Amino acid sequence: MTITFADLTTMRVGGPVGRLRVPETTPQLVEILRESRGSDDPLLVMGGGSNLVVGDIGWHGTVVKVASSEFDIQGDQVTAAAGAVWDDVVSASLDEGLAGLEALSGIPGSAGGTPVQNVGAFGTVTADVLESLTVYDRQTDCLERWSPDRCGFGSHRQSVFKRSGRWVVVDVTFRLRRASQSRSIEYVDLAKKLDIEVGGTAPPSDVRDAVLELRRSRGMVLDPEDHDTWSVGSFFVNPVLTHVPDSAAGCPRYFDVKGTKLPAAWLIEHAGFPRGYGREWGNGTVALSSRHALAVTNRGGATAADVMKFAAHVRDGVEAHFGIRLGPECDLVNCSF
Ligand SMILES: Cc1cc2nc3c(=O)[nH]c(=O)nc-3n(C[C@H](O)[C@H](O)[C@H](O)COP(=O)(O)OP(=O)(O)OC[C@H]3O[C@@H](n4cnc5c(N)ncnc54)[C@H](O)[C@@H]3O)c2cc1C
Repeated sequence: MTITFADLTTMRVGGPVGRLRVPETTPQLVEILRESRGSDDPLLVMGGGSNLVVGDIGWHGTVVKVASSEFDIQGDQVTAAAGAVWDDVVSASLDEGLAGLEALSGIPGSAGGTPVQNVGAFGTVTADVLESLTVYDRQTDCLERWSPDRCGFGSHRQSVFKRSGRWVVVDVTFRLRRASQSRSIEYVDLAKKLDIEVGGTAPPSDVRDAVLELRRSRGMVLDPEDHDTWSVGSFFVNPVLTHVPDSAAGCPRYFDVKGTKLPAAWLIEHAGFPRGYGREWGNGTVALSSRHALAVTNRGGATAADVMKFAAHVRDGVEAHFGIRLGPECDLVNCSF
């Protein structure tokens, strides 16, 4: 049976995989990466496929789906192999009485994927809690221990790993706190859900429950029965501008090291694309999530080409309305819009 990226990604689109390797331990992963160095066969490394859209032509080379799932908690640190299911790591660390990852509950994908995208939610990003990581350098054939300052975290969702092809994350260590209370909750909806003031704290397991509830209400927890979750989460990145045009004067603004960050969801909705938009558009296989305007979703039977065409339509509409061009937050391989 031919395996396709529709089988391996949460957007459930994309063509055939040339050759699939699924290392279940870190030594197996490193061995496969070493073997690949001398080969002309192009290599694509992936974890849970929750931030990846691959074109309908697929990938003719080797795909390494990292499935090394072990993790270990020592003192106030948790070290997870790159293929560990992220939410299992979060849940286990909380069970051990460690606070720090609770706001990142329910995010799909692998532990190794978190530094690639500097994954974040509800005011916490990976960079805040990352202690160190092991990286395999495909150029030098070396395994190196990196501190977070080498990762190139800066502006929203950036890192040196994104589309590098050179460095593969092999394991990740997080520095947590043995604490009965979370850090202060600055995110209004989360504070409301916890019934506390903004700036207050709560038991980390309560924060996890509230985060999961909020995420479910937004279609942001994977559920095979729920097409609003057949997505990559946020499809478009929040734009960071040095100058906000007058057309977007009413848009909320947030500080970013590179300028002013605007919420792409607001721009999309105010450009005339409400939640659920697109059911009558095209052939009905793709639409915005009915619970979150930033998620492009597969309503069943979509192709990568359908997704790209729809994303271009939304991007162009936002640009025509505000003069602001949205780009993808997810990784696009052999497809573009
Ligand atoms: C419903 C839903 C909700 C989401 N919510 C959020 C959210 O709240 N916040 C957020 O930040 N993201 C969110 N995402 C996006 C996604 O879950 C994260 O980006 C996640 O960390 C991706 O991990 P993954 O293992 O699935 O990566 P994949 O999709 O498999 O890969 C993504 C990219 O990372 C690279 N990569 C993967 N593993 C490695 C590795 N070990 N070494 C080097 N490169 C690697 C791949 O080559 C690819 O370029 C959401 C996605 C979905 C579907």
